Amino acid sequence: MSKPQPHKARKRFGQNFLHDHGVIRKIVACIGPKKGQRIVEIGPGKGALTEGIISVTERMDVVELDRDLIPILRVNLFRYPDLTVHEADAMKFDFTSLRTEEQAIRVVGNLPYNISTPLIFHLLSQASAIEDMHFMLQKEVVDRLAARPGDSLYGRLSVMAQYYCAVESLFIVGPESFDPAPKVDSAIVRMTPYKTPPHPVNDIKKLEDMVRIGFQQRRKTLRNNYKGVLDNDDFAAVNIDPTLRPERLDVEDFVRITNYVLNKEG
Ligand code: SAM
Repeated sequence: MSKPQPHKARKRFGQNFLHDHGVIRKIVACIGPKKGQRIVEIGPGKGALTEGIISVTERMDVVELDRDLIPILRVNLFRYPDLTVHEADAMKFDFTSLRTEEQAIRVVGNLPYNISTPLIFHLLSQASAIEDMHFMLQKEVVDRLAARPGDSLYGRLSVMAQYYCAVESLFIVGPESFDPAPKVDSAIVRMTPYKTPPHPVNDIKKLEDMVRIGFQQRRKTLRNNYKGVLDNDDFAAVNIDPTLRPERLDVEDFVRITNYVLNKEG
C-alpha cells in the first residue's frame, strides 16, 4: 500500500481529531465493546477511536464522508481485515441496513459538530435498530440533550431525544484533547433507545409538530404558542395549565397533547 499524503483538517467536515490517549481510553471504557458486537462509527477520521474498539470487537463498520481520509484510515488499521468502510454521508446513511435479526447496532462517534443536531434527529428516526449510542459533541449540545423540564437549555432536542432514549451526560473533554483545538468544551453522551417508548404517541410526525409549535417562542405561554391549535377546553381536557411556558412540560405532557389532537382530528 503506498504511503498516503499528510492530511490537513477540513473545517467544512467538522474535523477535530482526538489525540489524547487518556480520553480515548476513557471513551472506549464507557462504550464497553465486546467481541462480535456490531459497532458502527460515524466519522472515524484517521481511526483514533476506531482502533480502541475494533481491537476488541474484531469487526466494525465505519461511515466516513471525506474520501481523502480513507487511505489513511486503511493504513492505520491494516491489521483489521473485518473493518468495513462506507464512504458515505452519515446524514443519508441507512443505519437499519446494518442490523441483523439477532443483533441491533451500537453507534459511536466523535461527531462533526456542524451537523450534530440534524444527525441526531436522523439517528432517532432509526432508533429501533439501535441498542445504544455514544457520542462526543459540543458540551452545549449534550446539555440540551440531557436537560430536564425547567432547565434553561430544555427544548425541542431534549424532548425528542428523551422520547426515544434514556440520555446520560458522561464526562467533559477540554479543547486541548483535539487537533485542531475547537473553541468550546466537548462532552460524551450515552443515549439508550427504549425498546418501547414509556409514553408512546400514535404518530411521531405529529409529536414533532406539537413540540415545534410548543417551543416556537419559549418566553411565551402555551396559550400563545398553541393559538389556533388548542383552546381553553382543550387545555382542560389534557390537564395542562395554559399559562405555563413550554419549558415546564415533560415528555409525557407533549405526548398527551399529541394523542389528544390526533384523537380530535379523528
Ligand atoms: N473520529 C475521529 C477522531 O476522533 O479523531 C474524527 C472526528 S472529526 C470531529 C469528525 C469526522 O466526521 C471527520 O472524520 C469527518 O471527515 C467526518 N464527517 C464529517 N461529516 C460527515 C458526514 N456527513 N458523514 C460521515 N462522516 C462525516
